[in-house]
Amino acid sequence: MAATLAPAGKSYAELLVLYSDPDTCPAEALAPVPLAQEPAFVSWQQDIPRVYLEMSPEELDHRIAAARARLGSKLVILGHHYQRDEVIKYADFTGDSFKLARHAAEQEGIEYVLFCGVHFMAESADILTPEHVRVILPNMAAGCSMADMADPDDVYAAWDEIHEVLGEDARIIPVTYMNSAASLKAFVGERGGLVCTSSNADRALRWAFERGEKVFFFPDQHLGRNTGYAMGIPLDEMVLWNWRLPMGGTTPEALRKAKIILWQGHCSTHQRFTVEQIEKARREHPGVHVIVHPECRWEVVQAADSYGSTEKIAKTIREAPAGTTWAVGTEINLVNRLAKQNPDKTVFCLDPVVCPCSTMYRIHPAYVAWTLEAIVQGQVVNEVRVDPETRKWSLVALERMLELG
Ligand code: SF4
Repeated sequence: MAATLAPAGKSYAELLVLYSDPDTCPAEALAPVPLAQEPAFVSWQQDIPRVYLEMSPEELDHRIAAARARLGSKLVILGHHYQRDEVIKYADFTGDSFKLARHAAEQEGIEYVLFCGVHFMAESADILTPEHVRVILPNMAAGCSMADMADPDDVYAAWDEIHEVLGEDARIIPVTYMNSAASLKAFVGERGGLVCTSSNADRALRWAFERGEKVFFFPDQHLGRNTGYAMGIPLDEMVLWNWRLPMGGTTPEALRKAKIILWQGHCSTHQRFTVEQIEKARREHPGVHVIVHPECRWEVVQAADSYGSTEKIAKTIREAPAGTTWAVGTEINLVNRLAKQNPDKTVFCLDPVVCPCSTMYRIHPAYVAWTLEAIVQGQVVNEVRVDPETRKWSLVALERMLELG
């Protein structure tokens, strides 16, 4: 029987505070419940036909299986590592955004991609798949707070300001993390840049430095800084651009000296990990291996034993000797899954009270059932479509990334 997520006797306002604050979010209580019982539903979620609200996990399972059987090989379901278990179990392919982008591009004969991830991932799938393939995001409210930190108009303005200081002929290559709007991918494609993921950021930066003298990197400052530092670029040659301040809060001298101009964006989920948590894990678990994601702060990555993309984290733990202990600095759904998949090792999250990625979490099985049953009935809802001009240039930037291998 499904447990309820909502503690009894709490008002709506209290629940919002409780579940919005990672210090109080009861992540261990994230068990499957009907959508109507999820506190998040009341304010964060896209409207959905009422009939889906009260469906039990078992009924949703049944309806999703029936819809999939009707759609057969016309449909592929992609699931990002950070999806909760009750959604990831429906995925034909799982992976990080890089791996899923490749899967989307490689599928033949499909008509529909149901992308259980967030909005920018569905956009990338639409760009990479043939024109007739329709990409669906089960819940349109599933965005990415980091991607939202790079508003395209702010990025365009920053690009102009940087060139005003460094000159129109300055050889600056723009590089955007996969976690960005399609319009920003198009922006970098049109200006000789490329997209990167946490799996290939080092290769993307090398590619960029073969073609230019400086890199303008957005939206995640931490991935840019950690990757640049690992390539031997000192911290004082990476300048932070705060889009809220005139001239990005920096100086012409700092811009001239910088090899990398970092956008002041971050992932709220990964920025929570701290050096103190690493020290505590080492005190309490002698011999522990600490592995973190490169969206964590620089000092956290430096203090860890190793770091890497979600794919690398999963592979490292899978291939580690039995009996080893792993403290992991990434999203809690993935860490919990790694713990289950590696019963011969001890795997735990560096931050025991960390919340799931709140935007990924907006994909509930009810949305999967709704969007699939709509397709069966001949109606596509929640389609993510990138306009032709944006598609053209973002495809250039994505193909440059895919060619990195
Ligand atoms: S974990 Fe962070 S970067 Fe990834 S989708 Fe969630 S908010 Fe965005």
